[in-house]
Amino acid sequence: MGTFVKILIASVLVAYFAMKWTGPSFDPESLKGARVLVTGASTGIGEQMAYHYARFGAQIVITARREKVLQQVAEKCLSLGAQRALYIAADMASESDPDKVVNFALEKLGGLDYLVLNHIGPSPFAMWEGDVEHTRWLMKVNFFSYVQMAWRALPHLEQSKGSLVVVSSLLAKMTSPFTLPYTSTKFALNGFFGSLHHELAMKRSNVSISICTLGLIDTDSAMEKVRGVTDVPAYPATEAALSIIIAGATRQLDLYYPWFTYAVTLFKDMFPSTTNFFIQNSYNYIP
Ligand code: NDP
Repeated sequence: MGTFVKILIASVLVAYFAMKWTGPSFDPESLKGARVLVTGASTGIGEQMAYHYARFGAQIVITARREKVLQQVAEKCLSLGAQRALYIAADMASESDPDKVVNFALEKLGGLDYLVLNHIGPSPFAMWEGDVEHTRWLMKVNFFSYVQMAWRALPHLEQSKGSLVVVSSLLAKMTSPFTLPYTSTKFALNGFFGSLHHELAMKRSNVSISICTLGLIDTDSAMEKVRGVTDVPAYPATEAALSIIIAGATRQLDLYYPWFTYAVTLFKDMFPSTTNFFIQNSYNYIP
């Protein structure tokens, strides 16, 4: 490895750990009784976030489409120590359900301290074949519903000095094959909530925004898609979930999990052609 690359890697590591160590420390007690709404909490990272919030003694509302599964997750949350665990089934492709869910949480919890936007609609992992209708639908689920829920919750988060947590992806920072509609929705999220962060800061708002950049995480839905297609390592959903919760509780603007996703975002701006070469060759694809 050349000296320049070694120095580059060392500098990135120093910058990353300096950022971590100088950030505010996490106080688990701060989540006791906190009023939290988590979307996409029937499975995957959302489910794991619900369990962590439960262990911290929060009051939780969870949502997704499948009511029976939500009921089981809510029961487990209560057994883990949640002060309250309520659920509401909703389809985020609907025009009215995003508001309905926030209204439910506000009414049942008497306000909101954390809005954790995490859900995604299922999307194929395949070459783009021109399915415009699917892209439109996915935009509704993965993007417009986030915007709608954030707008409905903002005045209440303002009152509680609360936090808006947006679960995004490394694919919001760099493009990739096989996930065009999904990648587009994540770029949209980063654009919108990154810009909203500026406006809230300029208005001296009480509300913090955390945008979470995740690499590959070992949820069932993600693993089903990439099995046999790529050897990129997957990281544990429970650890990703805890990192997201800590980012929200400590009001960090950016979370990178696992840590090297930060290095990847820097690298791809410095060496775009090399990055593209690696991306295209990290998949087992024969035309
Ligand atoms: P999952 O596919 O495991 O979970 C998605 C959740 O969204 C489920 O609870 C699902 O429940 C719900 N959902 C799906 N469609 C709808 C809909 N129309 N309306 C309401 N809820 C819906 O996702 P992950 O846990 O893997 O991902 C969670 C977050 O992390 C996402 O934002 C994702 O982009 C991000 N991320 C994940 C990575 C990974 O490798 N896993 C990598 C980078 C980012 P139900 O079917 O019951 O509706």
